[in-house]
Amino acid sequence: MSEMKKLYYCKRGEILVKNLKNRHFDAYFCETKEDALAKALELIPEGATVSWGGAMSAQQIGLQDAMRSGSYTVIDRYAGQTQEERDQATKDAMFCDVYISGANGLSLDGQMVNIDGTGNRVAATIFGPKSVLIIAGMNKVTDDLESAVKRARTVAAPLNQQRFQLNNPCTVTGTCADCKSETCICNQIVITRNCRPAGRIKFILVGEELGL
Ligand code: SF4
Repeated sequence: MSEMKKLYYCKRGEILVKNLKNRHFDAYFCETKEDALAKALELIPEGATVSWGGAMSAQQIGLQDAMRSGSYTVIDRYAGQTQEERDQATKDAMFCDVYISGANGLSLDGQMVNIDGTGNRVAATIFGPKSVLIIAGMNKVTDDLESAVKRARTVAAPLNQQRFQLNNPCTVTGTCADCKSETCICNQIVITRNCRPAGRIKFILVGEELGL
């Protein structure tokens, strides 16, 4: 990444941290993936029960691997052998100590936008786990809320669909058709404006391009 872009992300990161704190989130800016991993490990106490959903950025900084190999109890629904095991893990995740996730869009004034197909990821973000840790690259940040929603709907979701390859229009065209398909991955669109209780949701913003 160019020095110019690093500076750009640092400056916007500082503003976003301040605006997130004003909304009672905890927030940190890390210039690199390595710093972000170190900060995450500082924030997650050893012995914690940890789970995650839709956390590609966390995966890119190596957080899930660190959880699996460290002194944590991991609930990983993707490791389930049967649908029943995966469903149970998804439910158990609602009671974990730390739920790791990402953001589909973040507005510079400190609001988070997430889109979900079944809703388990946004549900855990809203209520259930004791704390939520969001890892997000600065590529997710837009100037205002309207652009954050637009980014989530027209960039993140069609990109995500290239991974799932479900029978939805954007799988074929790469463009959102505002579908009502049975397999639509955009059934819940959640804007998290503030954090209550204060500090429950923590952000680690990374000055690199991560996730979708
Ligand atoms: S076409 Fe449907 S599944 Fe694809 S991004 Fe739009 S609403 Fe989501």
